[in-house]
Amino acid sequence: MQEKGTISIHTENIFPIIKKFLYSDTEIFLRELVSNAIDATQKIKRLSSLGQYNGELGDLRVEVSFDEKAKTITISDNGLGMTAEEIKKYINQIAFSGATEFVEKFKEAKDANEIIGRFGLGFYSAFMVADRVEIETLSYQEGAEPAHWTCDGSTEFEISEGSLAERGTEITLHINKDSEEFLSQQRLQEILDKYCKFLPVPIKFGTKTETEDDGEDEEGKPKYKTIEVDNIINDTNPIWTKAPADLKDEDYLNFYKQLYPFSEDPLFWIHLNVDYPFNLTGVLYFPKLKNDFEIQRNKIKLFSRQVFITDEVKDIVPEFLMLLHGVIDSPDIPLNVSRSFLQADSSVKKINSYITKKVADKLAELFKADRKAYEEKWTDIGLFVKYGMVSEEKFYDKAKDFVLLSNTKNENFTLSEYKDKVTPEQTDKDGQLVYIYTNDPAKQDAFIQSANKKGYDILLMNSPIDNHFIGQLEQKLEKTSFKRVDADVADKLIKKEDALEHVLTEEQATKVKGIFDKAINKPAYKVELESLNPDELPVTVTMDEFMRRMKEMAAMGGGMGFYGSMPDNYKVIVNGNHKLISRILNEENEEVQSALSKQAFDLALLSQGLLTGAELTEFVNRSVNLI
Ligand code: ADP
Ligand code: MG
Repeated sequence: MQEKGTISIHTENIFPIIKKFLYSDTEIFLRELVSNAIDATQKIKRLSSLGQYNGELGDLRVEVSFDEKAKTITISDNGLGMTAEEIKKYINQIAFSGATEFVEKFKEAKDANEIIGRFGLGFYSAFMVADRVEIETLSYQEGAEPAHWTCDGSTEFEISEGSLAERGTEITLHINKDSEEFLSQQRLQEILDKYCKFLPVPIKFGTKTETEDDGEDEEGKPKYKTIEVDNIINDTNPIWTKAPADLKDEDYLNFYKQLYPFSEDPLFWIHLNVDYPFNLTGVLYFPKLKNDFEIQRNKIKLFSRQVFITDEVKDIVPEFLMLLHGVIDSPDIPLNVSRSFLQADSSVKKINSYITKKVADKLAELFKADRKAYEEKWTDIGLFVKYGMVSEEKFYDKAKDFVLLSNTKNENFTLSEYKDKVTPEQTDKDGQLVYIYTNDPAKQDAFIQSANKKGYDILLMNSPIDNHFIGQLEQKLEKTSFKRVDADVADKLIKKEDALEHVLTEEQATKVKGIFDKAINKPAYKVELESLNPDELPVTVTMDEFMRRMKEMAAMGGGMGFYGSMPDNYKVIVNGNHKLISRILNEENEEVQSALSKQAFDLALLSQGLLTGAELTEFVNRSVNLI
């Protein structure tokens, strides 16, 4: 048997579903209804400018009010209004067609924002908080009759003659038992602040008192009086809607303060403004970084036509720019579809690369315009730049001209400046450039001083991103490798032909090695004899660069794998040319010989902070006895 048919949908079921699925974010009902009211006022303005409406526009405004006793919230506007026919068409029908789609797709819907936008159920979000909704409206059209619509959340509605005398719409929600929290001045103000603060038409919410000059009293002192004025909750002209040319630094700084009242002034900002191939405006600020990056993330607010949508902009803003603050406004971002779709969406990709490009251009401009000021900000912006270079190929290509390398002497260089600087001293015998860095100048001071003595420059690479950044530069820069300053003794950091002659004979060298092996007596420390400069330390402890990096990587990946399971292995480099070594060699008392070797070894550990705990105490006691 075969039969084809249409599955029927019972529309009576739609309201319980809406209520259930939207429940987590019920507060957005106000955003939806206020946006509709704003749309209505914008539409009448447009009709008027097109000459299709010749009546008075009046002061266009939206008003939100509530009545605690009657348990109602009312949203009114003097927009274009609706006729009874239009109510039937826009209010009654849209929900039903939207509902069909809703039922078809609700299985994928994960959160309230997604559902509302996707199905155009804005108006119906009122039923999340109301048992009954009433519309009083009067259309702008000539001869229109006021209409009244009411619905109790079932599929039954009633249209009757209305009572409105002026053009516009008034929506009254009879708040249900579970939603009485919304019948509060503070709660409503909070929601309006969150979603409606930058809407383009004044929104009145009650009144507020202000003080005003009131002449002078008998003694000639100024008098004041308090007056009640409309409480307008929004700034109808936020700076991102204006042209950059019309704005001063002060305007940007004030706006920043308005968004983040407790933050320090930002370092600089970027005004975004595109209308092709997508629409996007906004202002992004580079904040002064604090240590706690997590707290500073998710500070960008996303708007769609000045309505606040979310501060989760993860897929729209490249990951490395998540530390920026500010606003992005785009009607083109598909706010309401699932995450995976958003990532694949081509306009989101374009927006992403547009923002990346704008940020790169701004940095390039700052660098060119005032190198000194740029360097002063480098500690704050360096992290963004390096992170960006590591994570976005396109950003790397732009940033390679303005990224700075800082050395231990607080000097800054561009990549090409640095290459020129170190090429003469730091090229090894195979023509490979070796960049030497420290991640902890205090701990590695002895190594830094030795390397400086050889005429090497030491880069400071101590930010969390530097390991990755070094890896990136090694891939990108030609014939260049990085070595941490303690990866080897200074003489060996850069392999050159000019190895020093051994002072010791081979026999003596073997003997010294034996003495140290015995004195140290730890399998993790491998003794090697080298002929270094007599001025160098007698003993140096190093960890091979490759080995260290592999272990660091294994540690980041959870410490597993081959390198992760290897014990820390150190090289103990004994400087055969140092006079202490000849002394040890010539010492006849074996105990003294061993004590001297142990002491020289411990000193090497100590200078690198590798000597701790009981071993440190033992070293101190032993040293005291030697004095
Ligand atoms: P959307 O806003 O996405 O179109 P809504 O469910 O929020 O969906 O609103 C449905 C329609 O009802 C609107 O498109 C508009 O035509 C009409 N409408 C809603 N509120 C008002 C209002 N305050 N004044 C005039 N028309 C309105
Ligand atoms: Mg709407």
